Formats: sequence, structure tokens, C-alpha cells
Amino acid sequence: MAKFGKYKIDLKGMQVPTMRLEYELDNQFFADIDSPEVGRGHARVSLDIKKLAAGNAFELNFAIEGTVVIQCDRCLDDMDQCIAVSDKLLVKMGTEYAEDGDWVIIPEEEGEINVAWFIYEFIVLGIPMKHVHAPGKCNKTMAGKLNKHLRVFADEEDIAGVEMEEYEDLESTSQISDPRWNELKKILDNN
Ligand SMILES: [Zn+2]
Repeated sequence: MAKFGKYKIDLKGMQVPTMRLEYELDNQFFADIDSPEVGRGHARVSLDIKKLAAGNAFELNFAIEGTVVIQCDRCLDDMDQCIAVSDKLLVKMGTEYAEDGDWVIIPEEEGEINVAWFIYEFIVLGIPMKHVHAPGKCNKTMAGKLNKHLRVFADEEDIAGVEMEEYEDLESTSQISDPRWNELKKILDNN
């Protein structure tokens, strides 16, 4: 893939014991990756490569910092998520490409690794499990609609866990018929 040409690293030809590469990721990078989790973003990547004692193995340390645009869990609008990720790849030469635990094995004949997809994966892993807008920043119409829809499937525990802000959104839609919701309203009114 020519689009990711600059992410291809010639490890076999590396003449020095250590090397640092820097990348600036922009919207184009994420467009080229064309994967659903992150569609846009900006990030700076520092990659430190160290030749390990054996000479045909390498340690690649990635430090990635930036902001990616992802979907808010609560309202599904886009939101900016800051990321700061450090991760590591261990690479060694072998007969054919393989991933084995912490190791990536690359064909010795080629002696190259393309790190574009690894960088993307590290970024995705760096996104917190729960990612929502800052309080009050959600798309209120959408959050209200979603809650109305979701509460049909929600169990008691989930209903009890609904935050006040979302509750108010729902109330304003004025079509509350779920009896559990009335129970929750009673509880909230008593506080
Ligand atoms: Zn939101």
C-alpha cells in the first residue's frame, strides 16, 4: 500500500543500534486506514527503534499523543477524545509473517515492517472504554431520544443508573409511560 509507504521500516537494513522516527498523523491517515472506530484525528507519533542483542530482533517503542474524533457513547454525536498512548512491538525475522504473543515475525527476505496499522491499533486501544462528552455538552435531543428508545430494553439497574441530566432530557420529551420510569421519578422527587 503506497499510501502507507512512509510507515514501512527497513529493519534488515538498519545500520545503527537505535533510531527515532517521527510521524504526524492527520485526517488523511485515518481516511486511508478506513476503519470504523476512528474516522478523523491528529496525532504525533515518536517511534524509538532498538536493535536487540541478537541482531535480528528489534524493539519498537511508540509514544502517541493527539486528539481523535469518535462517537460519544451517550448521544452518538462526534466528540474529541485526547489520547496519550505508549506501546511496544517486538519484531524478529523469520520465514513468513506471523504474530506470536508479543512478537511480530517478519519474513527475513523482506526485512521490513509497516507500522501504520499498528499505530492505528494502539490509538484505538488508547480510547477509554466509556467516552462521553463533558457534562452538558451532549446533543440533548439525541440523548433524550436514545434513552427513550433504550429504556425499553434496559433492566432495572440501568434505569437506576441513568444520570440526572439524561433524566431531565427525557422528562422534557413528555411521553413517559414506562412504569419503572415513574418509580425513578418518585425517587428523584423525594430527594
Ligand atoms: Zn455526547
